[in-house]
Amino acid sequence: MTDFQTSTTVRHIDAEKVLAQVLEHLREHDLVASRRDNAWLVDYAESKIIFSAQADALYAQVTASSQMALYEGRMMVFYHIQEFAQCEPQDIQWQGDGVILERPPAFRLVTAQAVSEVGPHMRRIRFGGSDLARYDRQDNIHCKLIFPQPGIEDPEWPTLGANGVPQFPKGDKRLDVRTYTIRRINAAQGWFDVDFVLHEDAGPGSRWAAQAVCGQQIGFSGVGGRTATQAAWMLLAGDETALPAIARIGESLPASTHGVVIVEVQTPADQIRLTMPQGMTVQWLYRENAQAGTTTQLTDAIQACPIATGGDRFVWVGAEFSTAQAVRGWLRHTVGLGSKEQLVVAYWRRGLDETQMKSAPARQADNSPAQKAPS
Ligand SMILES: Cc1cc2nc3c(=O)[nH]c(=O)nc-3n(C[C@H](O)[C@H](O)[C@H](O)COP(=O)(O)OP(=O)(O)OC[C@H]3O[C@@H](n4cnc5c(N)ncnc54)[C@H](O)[C@@H]3O)c2cc1C
Repeated sequence: MTDFQTSTTVRHIDAEKVLAQVLEHLREHDLVASRRDNAWLVDYAESKIIFSAQADALYAQVTASSQMALYEGRMMVFYHIQEFAQCEPQDIQWQGDGVILERPPAFRLVTAQAVSEVGPHMRRIRFGGSDLARYDRQDNIHCKLIFPQPGIEDPEWPTLGANGVPQFPKGDKRLDVRTYTIRRINAAQGWFDVDFVLHEDAGPGSRWAAQAVCGQQIGFSGVGGRTATQAAWMLLAGDETALPAIARIGESLPASTHGVVIVEVQTPADQIRLTMPQGMTVQWLYRENAQAGTTTQLTDAIQACPIATGGDRFVWVGAEFSTAQAVRGWLRHTVGLGSKEQLVVAYWRRGLDETQMKSAPARQADNSPAQKAPS
């Protein structure tokens, strides 16, 4: 099989320091580099990456057996060098294969095929599209949805710049990108479902879902971000934005799994039927008249849950930022869970839209480059 290859040399940076930071960061995400002569070799997803630092130049080469894997490896290198060298996107130029792709390889145009109500505050949209096989995986269930501005009839979808970075239109034709969970997918039949929370202070995602009708098109990309690791004992918890993920994770668990599910929704009418292993107990919390993200009831319920002591256990939480912060600290410092025993993700942040949340100072490890979804 022919391998695809691309490389970049980024000059005028403190190459050894940047390389050390990149390798350290990869190590934190369990990507261990091995040394060969003056180079460092990293296996990333389905690509092989070679880094070497010479004086003020950092060289990186990506090799992969498909254009998609090549692109993903290249973007991982791009985001890490850009972050640690603090350089501009145009300083990272690529040579070799894959540099003339017209669109990000993970990008798909998808069409709303069916709209249904899951509950008073949640709407399910079934999207149809082609070439969806790469999104049909249980270890990675999140995606990016790309929304044109309301009223724009001929959206301009993202293209790829010479440095491989997606270029988004600006001004009136700008696109808004939001993160969602693929609730169900059937790649062979060419469809997937997304459950949208219709929340107050609606942004592009919830606003689009509220008006969606069959035939409308949006952009779709991904997949990205980790999900829960299966374990003999599990705690799955979150608010309604995490409900699609909790439902999908629960459906994939072996029947022998034990544990607890805790979900906060607005009212009893927002409760849905969850398919969970018999040994998982499900607890629903209702906010009633309180606004989302203003109560501590989810944190309190998680902290009242007796976490399995030792053994094969995993805690997964998706919730508003302050809940996620409180729970993450408690799990680490009070319960003593290691990084491989928990994943706590801020799904949204009160008062900030998704773009602002990601650039806010208290940025979280969950959104760090090694986890970024290809766009
Ligand atoms: C990995 C991951 C998976 C996700 N999966 C899903 C999913 O399957 N379904 C889903 O509905 N959401 C999901 N979310 C959450 C979703 O991305 C956010 O709620 C996002 O902010 C929605 O975008 P928006 O355009 O509606 O609002 P934005 O433009 O991002 O925000 C506008 C305003 O709405 C507020 N806001 C955002 N979300 C909520 C909320 N839930 N309740 C109240 N106010 C809110 C913001 O604080 C802001 O003030 C997921 C998030 C992550 C990180």
